[in-house]
Amino acid sequence: MEKFKVKAYGTDAADAPLAQLDIHRREVLPKDVEIDILFCGVCHSDLHVARSDWGPSAYPVVPGHEIVGRVTKAGKDVTRFKVGDLAAVGCLVDSCRVCESCKQDLEQYCLNGFTGTYGGEDKHLGGHTFGGYSEKVVVDQDFVLSVPENLDLAAAAPLLCAGITTWSPLKHWNVGKNSTVAVVGLGGLGHMAIKLAKGLGAHVTLFSRTKSKEKDALELGADKVVISTDEDQMASVRGNFDLIIDTVPYVHDLNPYVSTLKVNGTLVVVGYLGPLEPMLNTVPMIMGRKSVAGSVIGGIAETQEMLDFCGKHNIVSDIEVIKIQDINAAYERMLKSDVRYRFVIDMASLKK
Ligand code: NAP
Ligand code: ZN
Repeated sequence: MEKFKVKAYGTDAADAPLAQLDIHRREVLPKDVEIDILFCGVCHSDLHVARSDWGPSAYPVVPGHEIVGRVTKAGKDVTRFKVGDLAAVGCLVDSCRVCESCKQDLEQYCLNGFTGTYGGEDKHLGGHTFGGYSEKVVVDQDFVLSVPENLDLAAAAPLLCAGITTWSPLKHWNVGKNSTVAVVGLGGLGHMAIKLAKGLGAHVTLFSRTKSKEKDALELGADKVVISTDEDQMASVRGNFDLIIDTVPYVHDLNPYVSTLKVNGTLVVVGYLGPLEPMLNTVPMIMGRKSVAGSVIGGIAETQEMLDFCGKHNIVSDIEVIKIQDINAAYERMLKSDVRYRFVIDMASLKK
């Protein structure tokens, strides 16, 4: 298969910092789009995978799944994009397309395993896929999204993961005008959850450990902030919420949040992946028909629906633009919950 070399940023080991390296991209196949990457958001998942937090990663890891850019080449059978168009790629670059999930536009739940934008199996070049911390990416048009022209391009990048990951549960659990929604953790996902739930008309509460984020949360659209370490504040919202979206990346006690659900309410975990500690107490769940659920990103059609909604309502992420050379410092700040509220890499810094 024809391929070409591009510059990228990645790491060779869990304990090594990210640095510049070269990777290959395939030459466009008939249905492929080649995208010159202009901006790439920095997700906490990038850090988890770079550092093998979820089990051993395949190295080198080149993270990045919040990709926006311009089309520089289109294969002969590409119908949806032409050279010069804005285009975006999120967390998925392929799936089996024939299983029950794929047939229902739920590629993120592909029963044969979706192909992640990074760390997935590269079915064309062999080895594994590389993400958006790179000059260019080549993706089948079926997994490429259109970005509304009115949105600031850098600030739109985080919609491709932080946006869709919070949009999908909001839609699945039918959040609308009279819903009461709470969000746990004010980081990249959390701040998008607030904006999108607000955009759908819900009453939104933020649970945060960080008192100094209170003012920001209200400016982002939250109606109320509850400091999760304050027992009185927690008690004041008992039985309040239809839906809670929990974005916290590390293990923590879910039980206090279950108590704040209404009867029939659902707590959806999108942040932490792994066994719970302490365990869940089933009593409040049984006595209130409450659910604790999980959700991963969103399908391609749903991602386009979310982008179009954001275009219509002028919703983007609050970002801090960084150079690729500052990525290791950005990861350290992310670990300290010191992100307001998403880092986005200006990829021009890599091309220099
Ligand atoms: P982030 O920007 O770092 O935000 C996480 C927020 O969680 C922090 O700002 C902080 O908010 C809170 N937090 C952090 N550590 C905590 C702890 N030990 N205990 C309690 N709260 C803590 O991260 P992100 O990019 O939003 O990603 C969040 C998580 O979602 C990551 O684990 C990521 O891998 C995962 N993720 C999942 C999906 C999916 O499809 N399910 C998609 C993308 C990302 P406060 O300061 O307000 O407390
Ligand atoms: Zn992500």
